[in-house]
Amino acid sequence: MQDKQYLMIPGPTQVPPAVVAAISRPIIGHRTEEFADMNRRIVERLQVVFQTQNDIFVLTHSGTGAMETAIANTVSPGDKVLALVTGNFGERFAKMAREYGADVDEVNFGWARCVDLKIVEEKLASNSYKVVLATQNETSTGVTNDIAGIGALVGKTTALLLVDGVSGVGGIEIKMDRWNVDILVTASQKSMMLPPGLAMVAVSQKAWKVVESNKSPRFYLSLPAAKKNYDKWNTAYTPGVTLFAGLDAALEMMMTEGMENVYARHKLLAKAARAAVKAMGLELFVPDDAYASPVITAVKAPEGINGDDIRKVLKKEFGVTFAGGQGVMKGKIFRIAHMGFSDKMDVIIAISALEMALSRIGHPVELGKGVKAAQQVFLGGNE
Ligand code: PMP
Repeated sequence: MQDKQYLMIPGPTQVPPAVVAAISRPIIGHRTEEFADMNRRIVERLQVVFQTQNDIFVLTHSGTGAMETAIANTVSPGDKVLALVTGNFGERFAKMAREYGADVDEVNFGWARCVDLKIVEEKLASNSYKVVLATQNETSTGVTNDIAGIGALVGKTTALLLVDGVSGVGGIEIKMDRWNVDILVTASQKSMMLPPGLAMVAVSQKAWKVVESNKSPRFYLSLPAAKKNYDKWNTAYTPGVTLFAGLDAALEMMMTEGMENVYARHKLLAKAARAAVKAMGLELFVPDDAYASPVITAVKAPEGINGDDIRKVLKKEFGVTFAGGQGVMKGKIFRIAHMGFSDKMDVIIAISALEMALSRIGHPVELGKGVKAAQQVFLGGNE
């Protein structure tokens, strides 16, 4: 069946039928009461997801646009920036700050490792930074960083903490206010269950003081321009109105499920995926469950096999799409996303297809062993 696809990449992710229905409704104008009502409802619910009282701007960007919005509004040439890097997206954040002329102190904790709080503490004690950059969920490796721990340290200083929550927010708990996050950004096409095209940017009071006087050029990315319209529940420029309708529907689903349940679901999926991978005799890329991502599981390709060859068989024969390794990990790992509109059977399909693909390639695998391990987690037998 040509159309039957199992998309298991970390964005864009599968979109629930209720969201598809919402974005299929007739287009509305954005300078209308109808739009303002919807925008207010969206922001109030996003405040629940972000755990914040701060302003949250829904912008028509991809995730990178949201990251650049955070940088353009807080970083000026010559500013000292601490970049906490655990993979490809941490590197991107650091690079972006450098493009804006910042003096970037980049600390690379290594791929498949998380941010080491001791090093952050040392760095903050011996330097004065204007901005600290961190990634909540490093999609390239499947590591979730301790934003609460980082925020507790940065909150004691004058520095602003900017967090890339692009793949995590909506699937992994974050408490923006309690954890001292100053700018939190995310995008629509990952744990938020929407097609690509929207970004969400929340800004603390501490950040606003910097934003208002920041020297870097900004126009489309200007937060003060967004704020002027936000106070009327509107946007500075034409927003992706169809996607706003989808976001409204996605947030309705999240509120109905309850955020605690959303987070617990993702943790369970990760636990099952990790148990299955181990049972199959494969190696997890992130060895430690303590900082392994709830929304994506990275797996090392078996010795002598290119991960991309496994992915080709998965796609061609079973219609299953996993993500490959990025940057230095290309061909060496593959990544199974279980974020957003994902449930138990998605993991069963992913693991079952992986067993068959490995077998097809000639890698010794006992069919059903990984599936059984996942099933046992779901039945509560693997506690
Ligand atoms: N940050 C993270 C953690 C991501 O996972 C991604 C997308 N994979 C981005 C930033 C970039 O987002 P986009 O591709 O929407 O610009």
